[in-house]
Amino acid sequence: MLIDGHGRKVNYLRVSVTERCNFRCQYCMPEKPFSWVPQEKLLSFEDMFEFIKVGIDEGIEKVRLTGGEPLLRKDLDKFIKMISDYSPSLDLALTTNAFLLEDAAQKLKDAGLKRVNISLDSLQESVAHHIAQKNVLDKVLKGIAKADEVGLKIKINCVPLKDINDTELIDLLEYCKRKGYEIRFIEYMENSHANVKAGLTSEDIQNIIKEKYNFVRGEREGNSPSQNYFLEDGYKFGIIEPHLDDFCSDCNRLRITAEGYLIPCLYFEDALSIADAIKSKNIKEASNILKKVLQNKPEKNKWGSEDNSDRAFYETGG
Ligand code: SAM
Ligand code: SF4
Repeated sequence: MLIDGHGRKVNYLRVSVTERCNFRCQYCMPEKPFSWVPQEKLLSFEDMFEFIKVGIDEGIEKVRLTGGEPLLRKDLDKFIKMISDYSPSLDLALTTNAFLLEDAAQKLKDAGLKRVNISLDSLQESVAHHIAQKNVLDKVLKGIAKADEVGLKIKINCVPLKDINDTELIDLLEYCKRKGYEIRFIEYMENSHANVKAGLTSEDIQNIIKEKYNFVRGEREGNSPSQNYFLEDGYKFGIIEPHLDDFCSDCNRLRITAEGYLIPCLYFEDALSIADAIKSKNIKEASNILKKVLQNKPEKNKWGSEDNSDRAFYETGG
């Protein structure tokens, strides 16, 4: 079992397979990302898999592949199969913008993927275009439909932004409700890479939904940062409320970047690389680095403080 320096059980690994992306969402990326990691510095899937095995052997029970846009990475299905064959009971999920999902969904499902979280910020072509800075909606909706058709469990992520998609929250909720997907509204997290004036707070989001629906606040979803809310007919939606709750007291997660940095917290600068240890097949050293990083996991994130990290979400996987 992996226990961090503050006694928390860590069983969730988020794996960023690339920081590159085919979208330029205004809340996530500058129009011209300034620091692409050179391709040769990325860990190969074989090397990443060696590290994931270490994690699983030590107590990781949930792995989420993310990015940047993970579907940009060739042979993602083969990587998923390696992980799934090694640990069939693992909770193995993917976060994607779905632009390339229509063609990939069946292969990903066959490889052992169980769940997919998809970013969908608007159901209007022009608004989706404005946010992603590319004409994306048609392909995204086709990707979602295909993922559903092949039997992947779907959750939708939406970042509500003032004067951009805030008139659409009910439409997005109703679309998800009709389709049987859970929707999670994520409060916009301010960062120096984004190009957005303001996001909606949880209270703003609730006030908009209240205009049409009664709902009650439930529990937070396990160790997840998502706070559950229930409509009168039982439909569950979530709001991720970092401005209200820092989720730190029961944080169970650890992140690895595409080049092999182990990051104990999204809002904390310190990270250690397992790349050399893994490339030289020194599994013991990789395991030692994992333990060191866990000991160094801060009790509370450093959001807003001086030792916060300026890493972008597209680098760490959000
Ligand atoms: N490209 C994939 C996608 O968009 O789903 C995976 C990576 S993306 C960085 C992961 C999640 O982070 C997405 O749901 C996205 O909406 C969220 N995200 C990115 N920047 C954010 C911000 N500034 N505030 C809140 N959520 C953000
Ligand atoms: Fe790309 Fe996802 Fe960031 Fe949008 S949120 S720019 S899709 S990494």
